[in-house]
Amino acid sequence: MPDVLLFFIDGLGIGTRGPHNPLDGLSDAAALANFQNEKSELPFAGVLIETDARLGVEGRPQSASGQTTILTGINAPATVGYHKQGFPNRALLDVINEHSIFLQLKRAGVAPITFANTYTERFFEARPRWISATTASVEAAGLEFNRVEDLNAGRAVYQDFTNQMLIERGENVGSRTPEQAGDVLASIVANHRFTLYEYFITDKIGHAQDREAAHSVLQNLARMIRRVLANINLSSTTMVLTSDHGNIEDLSTKSHTLNPVPTIIWGAGSQQMADRISSLADITPAIVSLLTHDA
Ligand SMILES: [Zn+2]
Repeated sequence: MPDVLLFFIDGLGIGTRGPHNPLDGLSDAAALANFQNEKSELPFAGVLIETDARLGVEGRPQSASGQTTILTGINAPATVGYHKQGFPNRALLDVINEHSIFLQLKRAGVAPITFANTYTERFFEARPRWISATTASVEAAGLEFNRVEDLNAGRAVYQDFTNQMLIERGENVGSRTPEQAGDVLASIVANHRFTLYEYFITDKIGHAQDREAAHSVLQNLARMIRRVLANINLSSTTMVLTSDHGNIEDLSTKSHTLNPVPTIIWGAGSQQMADRISSLADITPAIVSLLTHDA
């Protein structure tokens, strides 16, 4: 049975080519530079699935309901009747508390499992607490959160994996290149049956329509991803990259897009897993099945 890395990127759709799309013509962006109606040549033999993020519900897909869907396998917008922005409400938290991927894996005896991201003390102290779908999914299974000391010990990665945002806030951490961050994430993956990593600056930049920032963030992210792929054992590890909705691939609008999102699968069992996925609701069941070998 392979180990699994779920690499979640907020706000990355598969767009059309054109000046609105910062990925069009961007160098060093392999793995992320995928376009509608084009066959992608993915590094490390990745399999790309154009994945439906609209989930049969009117309106633009949003983060809370999309992430809940990815992290539970339940079509959250269809369950509550709408796409929910930002942070999950009570109805979505109920879905997460019952079906979180971490909880499903824990119940099945799959261990160790981890959320690779780092939380700062500020998060634990802040009131009211704004709990993302990811945080709620981790809490649903009673898992420990990584803190800055774990990051410094090479056991965690920050959501801004270069650590720049932490340094600007006065945290005592060193900066990391995308390659160094990729090395750390790959070593976390090697020590766990299931690892989740979340990156959301892409969504912020999409909303800000900041073309320059989009270029550097997408290049760095692609470098980090390729480094992870170079360092994990792809014969015994499956990496699944996905997103909750489109955004950064179309800077002509500050809203989310209606585009499909990329789900990209690399490594062990990639084709079998790809065959099971057409919407965001298919990701958790495919991962749980792979990790519990009941496929
Ligand atoms: Zn957003």
